[in-house]
Amino acid sequence: MRRAMIIKYRTKPARYAVVGHPVEHSQSPWIHHCFAAQLGENIDYTRLRAPLDGFVACVRRFFAEGGRGLNITLPFKLDAYVLADAVSPRAAAAGAVNTLRADTDGLYGDNTDGVGLVRDIEHNLKLALKQRRILLLGAGGAARGVLPALLEAAPAELVIVNRTAARALELAQHFAPLAEHLACKLRGGGENVARGAFDIVINATSASVTATQPCFNSCAITEGTLAYDLMYGAQPSIFMRTAQRLGARVSNGVGMLVEQAAESFFVWRGKRPNSAPVIEQLRVRMLKTA
Ligand code: NAP
Repeated sequence: MRRAMIIKYRTKPARYAVVGHPVEHSQSPWIHHCFAAQLGENIDYTRLRAPLDGFVACVRRFFAEGGRGLNITLPFKLDAYVLADAVSPRAAAAGAVNTLRADTDGLYGDNTDGVGLVRDIEHNLKLALKQRRILLLGAGGAARGVLPALLEAAPAELVIVNRTAARALELAQHFAPLAEHLACKLRGGGENVARGAFDIVINATSASVTATQPCFNSCAITEGTLAYDLMYGAQPSIFMRTAQRLGARVSNGVGMLVEQAAESFFVWRGKRPNSAPVIEQLRVRMLKTA
């Protein structure tokens, strides 16, 4: 046993990285090293800052040098989708890739953002999405990435609201066949398309990054609502503080961040880490470094 462990750690670690621009803030190396320690996997995970016009060259170099897998963050998830030789059904539905794996026949692309969000809400926050009314704020890459998984969770209704209403409408039209197949009422537009209270309001806009409030009708949030901000930080966002004042239960996206990473780890290593202790440690770590 001891001999097997020594041999394992004498071999070179399998190389992984997160590629983005910027990428210096990324918690992914810390998260994946926690998973590796938990499961006794010998990996090395770093950050790669790709030039805005040099994503493809950066990815090709990483894999040519023996890299095994990449996470893709802003602004390259659509480029990664185009670059992948084959993609999973959930990446195809989202039209974006956040996980690349080097397979013998080329690069395999997956999208773990949606399953990360749904797992955090359903498993960690213990709120089943089935037959719920969901309001999704935003129509950018993150909203698009999580929509297939949200629809698969079989809510009764999903309304997309965006500052630029036309983008929300376009997203709703794009996902209409999937929503119809899953018997979910799907609508999109400006804030006036969302009427009444919702069980879950998800902020998938980048408004919190600039400390602004996304546009939504305040009737959407009541005491029974879960208000979830995809953004994560040591302090609650303006969206979360507003929702708290309206009596809602709130959460930021730390759980989603760790859950999407756990799913990527599974895609690469075939082993599923235990996310709960890593989420707790990451919350503490973020408070300490705030
Ligand atoms: P994006 O593609 O640039 O889209 C930005 C969206 O936010 C658009 O819908 C935009 O509306 C809207 N928006 C921007 N500023 C706004 C404001 N002041 N008021 C109202 N709406 C505003 O960005 P993204 O990739 O979707 O990322 C969105 C957020 O998700 C980011 O905060 C990111 O950190 C977070 N995220 C978290 C995780 C996680 O693991 N927790 C994963 C992925 C993303 P317009 O169409 O009108 O411009």
